Amino acid sequence: MRLYADCPSCLNEISFWTWDESRAEINKANRGKLNLKCKKCGEENDIFTSEIYAKKNKLLLILSLSIFLIGTPYIIYFFWEKVTSLGHYSALVIGLICTVPFTIFMIINKNEARRVRLFNMG
Ligand SMILES: [Zn+2]
Repeated sequence: MRLYADCPSCLNEISFWTWDESRAEINKANRGKLNLKCKKCGEENDIFTSEIYAKKNKLLLILSLSIFLIGTPYIIYFFWEKVTSLGHYSALVIGLICTVPFTIFMIINKNEARRVRLFNMG
């Protein structure tokens, strides 16, 4: 997961990637401190793992939002002719299909929020 810390020298946000999913795991692997190099000022600093934080993955959220925003009209467009020619039951089914992109968006969003909360809490 991508994690962040603030550079003690210039306060620039340093980001890095790790396989570890929790602060406890990072603590164990790095003995409480991480040596991170700031891309802005080039300074290398030992950062306490307690100062590391997680944020929501913006790219993932944008991607899931796009699925929702593009997927829903596409489904409506695709089924529109059928909705008008079919009965109430079919319209209901198509209505349910329309909620699929929204559900995907909600699940991804919720997972991200949970992952970030768990990390920042630990
Ligand atoms: Zn810096």
